[in-house]
Amino acid sequence: MTANRIIIWYRNDLRLHDHEPLQQALKAKAQIIPLYCFDPRQFGKTSFGFPKTGAFRAQFLLESVADLRQSLQKLGSNLIIRQGLPEEIIPQLAKQLEASAVYYHAEVTSEELQVEKALNKAITPLKVHLKSFWGHTLYHPDNLPFDIGNIPELFTNFRKQVEQTSSVKPTLPTPNSLPPLPDIDAGALPQITDFGIEPPVQDNRAVLKFKGGETAALSRLQDYFWKQDLLRVYKETRNGMLGANYSSKFSPWLALGCLSPRYIYEQVKKYESQRVKNDSTYWLIFELLWRDYFRFICAKHGNRIFRISGLQGIPIPWKEDWELFNIWKEGKTGFPLVDANMRELAATGFMSNRGRQNVASFLTKNLGINWQMGAEWFESLLIDYDVCSNWGNWNYTAGVGNDARGFRFFNIIKQSKDYDPHGEYVKYWLPELAKLPASKVHEPWKLLPVEQERFGVKIGVDYPQAVVDLFKSAELNEKIYNAALRRKR
Ligand SMILES: Cc1cc2nc3c(=O)[nH]c(=O)nc-3n(C[C@H](O)[C@H](O)[C@H](O)COP(=O)(O)OP(=O)(O)OC[C@H]3O[C@@H](n4cnc5c(N)ncnc54)[C@H](O)[C@@H]3O)c2cc1C
Repeated sequence: MTANRIIIWYRNDLRLHDHEPLQQALKAKAQIIPLYCFDPRQFGKTSFGFPKTGAFRAQFLLESVADLRQSLQKLGSNLIIRQGLPEEIIPQLAKQLEASAVYYHAEVTSEELQVEKALNKAITPLKVHLKSFWGHTLYHPDNLPFDIGNIPELFTNFRKQVEQTSSVKPTLPTPNSLPPLPDIDAGALPQITDFGIEPPVQDNRAVLKFKGGETAALSRLQDYFWKQDLLRVYKETRNGMLGANYSSKFSPWLALGCLSPRYIYEQVKKYESQRVKNDSTYWLIFELLWRDYFRFICAKHGNRIFRISGLQGIPIPWKEDWELFNIWKEGKTGFPLVDANMRELAATGFMSNRGRQNVASFLTKNLGINWQMGAEWFESLLIDYDVCSNWGNWNYTAGVGNDARGFRFFNIIKQSKDYDPHGEYVKYWLPELAKLPASKVHEPWKLLPVEQERFGVKIGVDYPQAVVDLFKSAELNEKIYNAALRRKR
């Protein structure tokens, strides 16, 4: 008789620590069969025609899968790697190995749910048990003071109730050893070019050399919390844009599940008891609550998060102006803060939270362009793309999210002066502005011809003219927004 075999279907949970499907399978005394499928649908095109997974994330994913395989091998097991549809591959494998069950982490958004549904359909006739676990958030739904269907629409209400009444489950241990795989071809790790993607060119201006995988994730946490002791100042630095250390940079690892939020939480608690407990230590958890909130909101509202009218259903007549959109995406708007951030994104696959808020506000509130185009551009490029955090934040910034409080826009000029007072960030990404004094660098359209001569930059030639008037464009879009709001009522 064959051993009790359970397939662990790895998805966005590429780790060994705090992994419930793995732990439950071990508890069942099963021979575990870890599997990762590269699903070709993830390498197709978005609805506006951008590559669904761009080069930075593809590379990060491959590194994460390679790291998981290595870690499993060290413990005596291995990772089976396949390319194809999980709903076809998993039933075949289950049949071949006579597996009794498939354990996996549940997702909440439509594309991922469709895969689960198709798998369920294909595997049910084989009498293989399909069991899902909840494992992406800090708080487990079991510990929330409300059901998913009753998640408060406003973040503050969500946060306050969770903070008052809920506790975070302890992390599950990393196994010390694992049973070997049965006799089976484990499969090769694909090359990035197998997905029709050229390897990304590494830009040495990037905030961090992000390397995929649990090993690098744990090492970043060790470095940020313990070696460099940066957690104690996180709240003061988190709005920065330049360098590795203004924020944790955990997001790419969180997105692929290389790092468990509960592990971060435990490490914060340890840091609070061993080093310092202050506003900064609280604030990192606060930010993880935003991440939880968006995931629970997606679980509650399903596909509404992707609709053009957003979670609030505001029928704004957004523009699909490709010329303007391309100006934004290429960082040629003439607003240095926007351009520097968009060029950083294109060159590295990363952008700070401050940057994301500004460029998203500019696209929607100044250019009046369909926010879904921006969300898909982020989806394509971001190394930390997370479906719930991305689409949730875009809803919010576009003013169509459930938490939207009327037409609010970022004053890009004020933001530039507040968060980049010496112009270091914009000059870093826009070397053509390098000679401008800090007092002039954020509003280059105001430069007189004689100043342009003096500072070696010709506006309209070396650096673009401002594509819109910041305040007039916001005023116009506010009228459009308010009219849509009246139509909705
Ligand atoms: C338009 C827009 C799109 C975004 N798209 C994504 C995305 O695809 N993936 C993603 O992980 N984050 C997204 N964010 C949120 C945020 O910008 C990033 O999580 C953050 O910049 C990552 O850097 P960090 O890990 O150093 O963050 P830190 O400041 O160190 O925060 C720690 C963690 O808290 C979470 N977090 C922080 N801010 C937010 C937030 N506003 N929403 C949700 N979670 C948050 C992240 O998991 C982050 O890693 C988006 C924000 C905006 C405005």
